[in-house]
Amino acid sequence: MEKPTGAPVSSTLRTGTYDHCMAGSASTCDPAVRTAESAYALLDQPTARLVEAAGAMRDAGKGRVVTYSRKVFIPLINLCRDRCAYCTFAREPDDPSARIMAPEEVLAVARAGAAAGCKEALFSLGDQPEARYPAVRERLAALGHATTLSYLEAMCRLVLAETGLLPHVNPGVMAGSALDRFKTAAVSAGIMLESTSLRLLRPGGAHHRCPDKAPRARLRTIAAAGERRIAFTTGLLIGIGETGRERIDTLLAIADVQDRYGHVQEVIVQNFRRKPDILMRDWPEPSAEEMVRTIATARLILGAKANIQAPPNLAQGDAGDYLRAGINDWGGVSPVTLDHINPERPWPQIAALAAATAAAGFELRERLAIYPEYVWRDDYLADSLRPLVRRQVDERGLVRPELTCQ
Ligand code: SF4
Repeated sequence: MEKPTGAPVSSTLRTGTYDHCMAGSASTCDPAVRTAESAYALLDQPTARLVEAAGAMRDAGKGRVVTYSRKVFIPLINLCRDRCAYCTFAREPDDPSARIMAPEEVLAVARAGAAAGCKEALFSLGDQPEARYPAVRERLAALGHATTLSYLEAMCRLVLAETGLLPHVNPGVMAGSALDRFKTAAVSAGIMLESTSLRLLRPGGAHHRCPDKAPRARLRTIAAAGERRIAFTTGLLIGIGETGRERIDTLLAIADVQDRYGHVQEVIVQNFRRKPDILMRDWPEPSAEEMVRTIATARLILGAKANIQAPPNLAQGDAGDYLRAGINDWGGVSPVTLDHINPERPWPQIAALAAATAAAGFELRERLAIYPEYVWRDDYLADSLRPLVRRQVDERGLVRPELTCQ
């Protein structure tokens, strides 16, 4: 990554208020740290100073409203061609718990979610499992599909038609032609960039034998979504062997693609959690302070207008620390389904999340799977999806209060 000469950190890490940002555009008043030199200098700042600056920046750009999405989690296919050393989701075909959900199973989960007031159907699945397993190709063929992406598209359309839940898809690396199919089948899509560190792809690294974790391929997917005006989710996974500077590089790469397209609707800061059944079972987890520092750094690099999210069910210690460090979103929370990626960490009750958020001085509001910034943008929503989305939101793009239930 090119490292241009940047402004000294004293001029980029401002504390206090950012009231001036509320009046102008993000491009003219957003004091985000955008050069490698000044971003690396954040690594030397005391945590309290990072938190103070990031919290003030969040307040200026987002106010005191914190959002979440009420969702069901649909683990469509839990097989994958990659072998991430921290993964507990993917199964081998001979594992009794390996599965490709049938359409009636998908619908049953979606209907349960709709009955519980959910608005989002989060489809999660492995990356191109048919490229590695003949058994997956056979099962997909029996379902009438040649590829995982074709089946995913069909299931999105089924859920949309039968339940009105809004699909968000997360199927890994995609070419532009693959993304085209989701422009009308889902309201948003995502891929975690995780880390731009190439070291992690080497033997012994968390991404060894993971062709889809090549940072360039993931950045190409993010850019292709930007070209198509697809509201897009990405983020970091911290504590998998990357260095502090590599975390900064990852944030700068996200900032760069956001500067070019403006479609990155949220950036997730997720912490590695150790589990007994993964290759990294003895790997140390990142500390609560590392999470807080990374959240604050993400805010300072990505700016006042960015939506920064950390998953509440993976929080270590006081979730209020994440709010003070600059997040403005808790992500998807399900009243119906497990977090299938971290099944040992249940979602908090939404009422409990609202109480914890209020205790830290914020108001919890529900959003859709497409963020408020994009719901009134015709270029981001296909004609066929606009009525379904817009009748659920108020003028700010948040879920109308009468449609929210706790
Ligand atoms: S790409 Fe995702 S599903 Fe596949 S092995 Fe890695 S973490 Fe697991």
